[in-house]
Amino acid sequence: SDEVTLEYRVLQYGEKQYLLIIRDITQIKQLEQIRKDFVANVSHELRTPLTVLQGYLEVMDVDNMPAPPIWQKAHTVMLEQTKRMDALVQQLLTLSRIEAAAKVQFDAVVDVPAMLHLLEQEAISLNREKQHQLQFQVDPNLRVTGMTEELRSAFSNLITNAIKYTPPGGEIQVCWQRQHQKALFSVTDNGEGIAPHHVKRLTERFYRVDEARTRSSGGTGLGLAIVKHVLSRHHSKLMIFSEPKRGSSFSFSLPPELVVGVQTLHQPKLP
Ligand code: ADP
Repeated sequence: SDEVTLEYRVLQYGEKQYLLIIRDITQIKQLEQIRKDFVANVSHELRTPLTVLQGYLEVMDVDNMPAPPIWQKAHTVMLEQTKRMDALVQQLLTLSRIEAAAKVQFDAVVDVPAMLHLLEQEAISLNREKQHQLQFQVDPNLRVTGMTEELRSAFSNLITNAIKYTPPGGEIQVCWQRQHQKALFSVTDNGEGIAPHHVKRLTERFYRVDEARTRSSGGTGLGLAIVKHVLSRHHSKLMIFSEPKRGSSFSFSLPPELVVGVQTLHQPKLP
């Protein structure tokens, strides 16, 4: 608790002149920790009442009750909204968990091809209404070291977003392939696209391009914030290319030291 956190920057000006700036950011860090703890606690506490509400709503058989018609509507809306809130709380918890885990704990090898195969099945059932053309191109031998659940949530968020934000009948391509020594993942759609000034802010929590539309699509506005965190813990960054009305491409590459079978100087140790 007596720890002091310092941040430093070295600026060069002129040929041999340097400026060293040291800043005490202990208080900023402490405040950030309080905020993180608060979010984690609140989401945890919200879970129980939500589960109870959802449970009761699910067993209420409004159709067979001698009740005015408005009750049916009310029941549907309440059920929908508790589901939305449940998704939100789940994602807040995921985000808190990732933020709180200061130490990166790599599992053994992550079988990404198998994982993507399961996500493809999920995507197919999610895609029933939208009737997109889904195409998965997966290198069957490309595996990486990493955190299984975190990587799953990154892949899954990007795939579901492409399905959600592409109008019916669109084309979505998911690729997992080796590129030089790296592992490249990309999801490309020909959907609604995103204007440049929004692209910059997409990975902020709760940032949404179109509030009304996202709400109806059941989004929480936390998906890409989670992806960003997961990737930074895997030494990677999310790249977004998008053009309004033409489509978007979300991609990232995992560095050689995480790719199984690539020899590098800094291979992380497996447990
Ligand atoms: P949400 O839960 O709202 O989908 P995300 O953090 O996953 O939250 O995404 C943030 C916003 O980015 C979305 O609300 C949407 O406006 C935009 N977005 C994400 N993916 C796409 C995509 N493939 N095409 C167009 N817009 C997208």
